[in-house]
Amino acid sequence: MSSPLHRDTLALRVAVERSLHGEHSEALYLSSGFVQPNAAAAARRFAGDEDGYTYGRSGNPTVSSFEQRLAALEGSEAALATASGMAAITLVCFGLLKAGDHVLYSQSMFGSTLKLVGTEFARFGVESTSVPQTDLGAWARAVRPNTRLLLAETPTNPLTEVCDIAALADLAHAAGAWLAVDNCFATPALQRPLEFGADIVLHSGTKFLDGQGRVMAGAVCASADLIHQRLLPVQKNTGMVLSPFNAWVVLKGLETLSLRLQAQSAQALALAQWLQAHPAVARVHYPGLPSHPQHALAMRQMGGCGGAVLAFEVAASSPEQARARAFGVLDALQVLSLCTNLGDTKTLCAHPASTSHGKLSEAQRQAAGIVQGLVRVAVGLEHLPDIQADLLRGLDRIDTFHP
Ligand SMILES: *Cc1c(COP(=O)(O)O)cnc(C)c1O
Repeated sequence: MSSPLHRDTLALRVAVERSLHGEHSEALYLSSGFVQPNAAAAARRFAGDEDGYTYGRSGNPTVSSFEQRLAALEGSEAALATASGMAAITLVCFGLLKAGDHVLYSQSMFGSTLKLVGTEFARFGVESTSVPQTDLGAWARAVRPNTRLLLAETPTNPLTEVCDIAALADLAHAAGAWLAVDNCFATPALQRPLEFGADIVLHSGTKFLDGQGRVMAGAVCASADLIHQRLLPVQKNTGMVLSPFNAWVVLKGLETLSLRLQAQSAQALALAQWLQAHPAVARVHYPGLPSHPQHALAMRQMGGCGGAVLAFEVAASSPEQARARAFGVLDALQVLSLCTNLGDTKTLCAHPASTSHGKLSEAQRQAAGIVQGLVRVAVGLEHLPDIQADLLRGLDRIDTFHP
């Protein structure tokens, strides 16, 4: 909660108290059960009248350290760690929705989020409407009397569309609904949605929180009331918990989150500017560029940083040619990784139209702007000229004089 210490300090220091051995690096408690001091204490703990660990599905000290540290960074009263980012979103839907409720969400959200809300929860009678991410009027028109939850992600994957969190929060609250924001791309190092009025922050810890592509993890940050009254009971009963080992990895990842995001964003901005000037590149999507449609909003909301993910379109005269040229750039890579993950210190490149968005029809893809020539780059920490040289291998082969 509110602390006189700066977030950069909290990222290193917030954790459960040390064990009696005085370990300096936070302990990894690999234990599924916890020994109780006596039968009466056990009874109080199970009744929820006393704090104390009992069983791994209800809590673990290493997992608590990660939750407390992430909550400190997001500025939330509480946080809950989950097995993955999708588990975090599932937990929020289970905890807050019932049959007959309506969810309003951005059509540019992560692919599995679209399926979870639009397909899986529809089977349980939860209604939903998807709207264009940046069209505030469309959000307002789609609100219904039974709207309970607004879901947005900013910036989005892979086109880095930015939505106005404060405006969506006002809309949600006027309708008696919650606003949940997937903060995976910006992370609390750049953007803290609760400061703009959001009620819930969602995370895939798999991405920047870990930061080195090692483990799956997720988290929900919200008020103590939402976390303890609405979400924790559901988590205990569904088992969507984070393993202590994975919690320990992301806990240590948080210590360098701010430094990594600053450094990787600076590399991404330099790479975006450089790509924009290459004749074989038709368009660059990056919130840090003045040409980005929501550049000013992004700079306000994301602490003046554009984040570490960009996408670019290769120049081409047909979708077939665009796809072949994008594949050519990816297949020519010798240093960067062809990998659909993101948020790693290693630069990852991907072709969204044939991978993350491969199941959409061509018409749906066109509508969403996921064109065949689009390449996403999750920029890491390699020496920038090496990143540029690796991309040039394929880009320089594109004959822009004979399209
Ligand atoms: C990866 C991702 C998710 C899902 O997280 P997992 O940890 O893979 O379950 C959700 N939202 C965004 C924006 C993501 O990039």
